[in-house]
Amino acid sequence: MDLPEFAIEAKGLVKTYPATKTMPAKQALKGVDLQIPRGSIFGLLGPNGAGKSTFINILAGLVRKTSGEVRIWGRDIDQRPRDARAAIGVVPQELAADVFFTPRESLDVQAGLYGVPKGERRTQELLGALGLGDKADAYVRQLSGGMKRRLMVAKAMVHHPPVLILDEPTAGVDVELRRQLWNYVVGLNHQGVTVVLTTHYLEEAQELCDTIAIVNRGEVVACEPTGQLLRRLDTRTVVVTPQESLAVVPNLGPFEGRLRHDGRLAVSFKSGDASVEAVLQAVRAAGVSIKDLATEDPDLEDVFLALTYDNPDALDPTRD
Ligand code: ADP
Repeated sequence: MDLPEFAIEAKGLVKTYPATKTMPAKQALKGVDLQIPRGSIFGLLGPNGAGKSTFINILAGLVRKTSGEVRIWGRDIDQRPRDARAAIGVVPQELAADVFFTPRESLDVQAGLYGVPKGERRTQELLGALGLGDKADAYVRQLSGGMKRRLMVAKAMVHHPPVLILDEPTAGVDVELRRQLWNYVVGLNHQGVTVVLTTHYLEEAQELCDTIAIVNRGEVVACEPTGQLLRRLDTRTVVVTPQESLAVVPNLGPFEGRLRHDGRLAVSFKSGDASVEAVLQAVRAAGVSIKDLATEDPDLEDVFLALTYDNPDALDPTRD
């Protein structure tokens, strides 16, 4: 069989949650077009409320889309819902472990739900791969939080889906566990599994993902290879506290300054094109004496500002 070019493809995807007595209707996805290349580790990055979970839940069949098209592994979720769903394993955000089962039973139940024949189940291998081999017969309520999360990953993989989706996988997870989880996930990716993860940490996406899509307020504002995206964000900002307060932004030659509310002068530049020293020279040349000085590197908020400059509300996902 021909393998699809894209593991997941969405076209014009819209989700509107209907109004309730207390809440107005909410358009959580506003016509999302997204193509997730087969074989990638793909990051879906965005602040809280951006629409990431809504997107994942539509893929998982937990939320019904309002309009648009979605294909998972080339299978349309309207026309072939079962086949589409069989192609993904989803690790949900919430830890919803079945406390009355052992990990082995839990995986067996899950395999049963997906119709995996007994002879094809690789329960022990899966538990071993996730460092749960010696916990196969323990009660789930005796497992640590980290172990429970790994069990969730094992459950998502019982039917050997070609696409694994992790929704905010490291929320509340300690550093060592995060490493283990990533090692396993990267190993799966090397075996050909496409991995999609949602996160609101730029650093996490940056470290793991080869491609990153940035979602904000229900829209994809960028989708490109990680290196390319980061180069685009390669800005630094010098923040100068002037000796005497400035009435207007001074002329800084090739640089553009902004006066902040607190009276400081902020000058952003591409680190490839200029240096802090060059900025300071321009500031001094404009007759500004410098009382104090700070530099700032871009963080996720700058990313959104840079990508959504025409939308002043972009940083506040709770505002409508
Ligand atoms: P994220 O996962 O990026 O934090 P979500 O997809 O959870 O974002 O939420 C997107 C928007 O949709 C938010 O404004 C949220 O309040 C709203 N929303 C999410 N789920 C529901 C729901 N079941 N009913 C109404 N509104 C919802």
